[in-house]
Amino acid sequence: MNLRVPGPTPLPPEVRQAVSGAMINHRGPEFRELLGAVTAGVREVLQTSNDVLFLTTSGTGGLEAAIVNLLSPGDRVLAVTVGAFGDRFAEIARAFGAEVTVVEAPWGRAADPLAVEEALERVPDARLVLVTHNETSTGVANDLATLGEVVRAHRRGGYPLLLVDAISSAGAMPLFADDWGCDVVISASHKAWMAPPGLAMLSVSERAWAVAERATCPRFYFDLRRARHLAARGETPWTPAVHALQGLRAALARMRAEGLDAVYARHRRVAHRMREGARALGLELFADPAHASNTVTALYVPEGKDGEALVAALRAQGVIVAGGMGPFRGRVLRVGHMGYVDMADIDGVLRALATAVA
Ligand SMILES: *Cc1c(COP(=O)(O)O)cnc(C)c1O
Repeated sequence: MNLRVPGPTPLPPEVRQAVSGAMINHRGPEFRELLGAVTAGVREVLQTSNDVLFLTTSGTGGLEAAIVNLLSPGDRVLAVTVGAFGDRFAEIARAFGAEVTVVEAPWGRAADPLAVEEALERVPDARLVLVTHNETSTGVANDLATLGEVVRAHRRGGYPLLLVDAISSAGAMPLFADDWGCDVVISASHKAWMAPPGLAMLSVSERAWAVAERATCPRFYFDLRRARHLAARGETPWTPAVHALQGLRAALARMRAEGLDAVYARHRRVAHRMREGARALGLELFADPAHASNTVTALYVPEGKDGEALVAALRAQGVIVAGGMGPFRGRVLRVGHMGYVDMADIDGVLRALATAVA
């Protein structure tokens, strides 16, 4: 099977091997060593010297953890959204009592840094800015470097913090968390990290820790202060997803062996092939070409075809893709190409597509 959904993603052989080992004590020396290795590896990929913490949850749990640790109910929050996952981040903030101002771009377009700048001027007391690095529902990558610069230029007295959903970007697209001024970066094991589902990882800046100390939102399982405290002695507050961490360690070793720049270049190449191949089949790309994602390609379902039938026709040929989200359910196909992916996988998708749309 050619699993080409934008998460969970296929596991390389050494990761499959790593996740099938004997269980270990999560409060023993093997675990300490494991946690140390994955923490160093994730730091390297995120290009950060901040704390990196692991939570046993999916990506959405990581987003919720960021909110409950940094929000005080009633705080103003600026949510920059260009699709379903940006909307979800905003919804989580709202659920915990934030006064959310939304800066939207139409689905398929990237966030406009000028619009974000204007919004920050209109809402000068915003405490948090929420940004999606790569919007998986539309196949759009935002210009995080520029958005980070805009937020930094408006920062007074430590606010606003920049919280970044990098769940479908980290490990596949360049991300310089510290240089770009990201206070919290959230990712998840089952996307470009080539590991099984079950882990969210968060980097947390010193500025964010200061806010976390004062924030009044209730939190327990996701209390990052506890996670930081225990991480200092090589443990997690609660029983962690040990096998997912072992898989992640093997995946990080693979990324290091390939080299991060080579990993990013491979993602650029497969994404380019996917887009060009789809165009050659007469399919229309959903995302603005200037901001097309290197980890997921969204395509319009051709006129006269049914989206669900098309997904099924691909499935019958061994290619598993995702459908559209929200208003584009049934009208869009999404092909994931992050993590363990090469040209042959994309060529397989294109061959199946050629048959399915013929
Ligand atoms: C996958 C994804 C999520 C989280 O999804 P989970 O199913 O909770 O892991 C959030 N944001 C983006 C951009 C994603 O791609």
